[in-house]
Amino acid sequence: MAEILVLVDHVDGEVKKVTFELLTLARAYGDAAAVWVGPGYEGAKDKLAEYGVSKVYVAADEELTSYVVAPKVELLAQLVADRSPAAVFVAATGEGKEIAGRLAVRTESGVLTDVVGLADGFVGEHSIFGGAIVTHAKVTKGTPIIAVRPNSTAPEASPSTPEEEQVSVTLSDAAKGARVVEKVVQEKGERPELTEAAIVVSGGRGVGGADNFKLIEELADSLGAAVGASRAATDAGWYPHTFQVGQTGKTVSPQLYIAVGISGAIQHRAGMQTSKTIVAINKDSEAPIFELVDFGVVGDLFQVAPQLTEEINKR
Ligand code: FAD
Repeated sequence: MAEILVLVDHVDGEVKKVTFELLTLARAYGDAAAVWVGPGYEGAKDKLAEYGVSKVYVAADEELTSYVVAPKVELLAQLVADRSPAAVFVAATGEGKEIAGRLAVRTESGVLTDVVGLADGFVGEHSIFGGAIVTHAKVTKGTPIIAVRPNSTAPEASPSTPEEEQVSVTLSDAAKGARVVEKVVQEKGERPELTEAAIVVSGGRGVGGADNFKLIEELADSLGAAVGASRAATDAGWYPHTFQVGQTGKTVSPQLYIAVGISGAIQHRAGMQTSKTIVAINKDSEAPIFELVDFGVVGDLFQVAPQLTEEINKR
């Protein structure tokens, strides 16, 4: 079977869940070959092997992480030229999409970004207009470079014993043009990362103010969940924009999504409608969010949320 190159998304050796999703997707269409850039592979190799990787190309040189995206592009371009993979998959994150675009130019290939599903022949599915319309597109030139949105596929383990190949890349002067001079490490909170969390509790305009978001946080903490917010809440400055869920925010697809005081506008749904189980707490029984939910509570969030938190904390 032809190889599909999957660029591993990791931060200092900690592999992001989206990588396991990409590997799962790649296995459906060929041999999943992971591409690792930077130090930290030894600590992550067992985890990668759990997801059916047939081979890992390891470029461990620490210098490669001293430059912005370009080394990853150069390495992938080199592997595309040497190995003729059937496709290259990257995560459709800010960095992943930049890599995909640059790689497409370097390899004179077509690129699909923000793909939410794939069909035979690498036909990519896109969800547009806030999820109202689904379109399909296919690369017709070169090696398909496909940037897949996090949380589009459920990661499925399939243990393997991958081959390893150390690879090196000679950086061009252009690649060395932008050097990383400082890394600001965001303090990691107690809660899971929003796009990776199994449970997300989000608050909306109904929460009524920044201070009241502690109700959302307390409910989230009782469940070990991440906190999200609607745009109405982030625009009002009640919660930081990095926690916004929706069309112009993050896409989440947890096992359980609890929308508290959120009406369910199409732009919000675009970021959460693929959640496995959706629960809403809203005082308006006509709120559109109730069209989407598995379980709905019609009631005042200021009464329902604390009771729920208390009940969960007892268990
Ligand atoms: P509202 O629509 O005002 O709903 C508040 C809800 O809280 C109501 O249903 C009300 O019944 C309920 N409520 C009030 N008080 C209580 C109470 N005490 N107890 C229980 N329930 C209560 N929105 C996003 O969320 N994410 C996006 O990424 C996003 N991107 C957008 C992009 C574009 C281009 C545009 C035009 C809009 C975008 N929006 C986005 C905004 C979106 O259209 C909605 O305005 C927004 O989602 C509304 O947020 P909300 O549900 O919190 O507020």
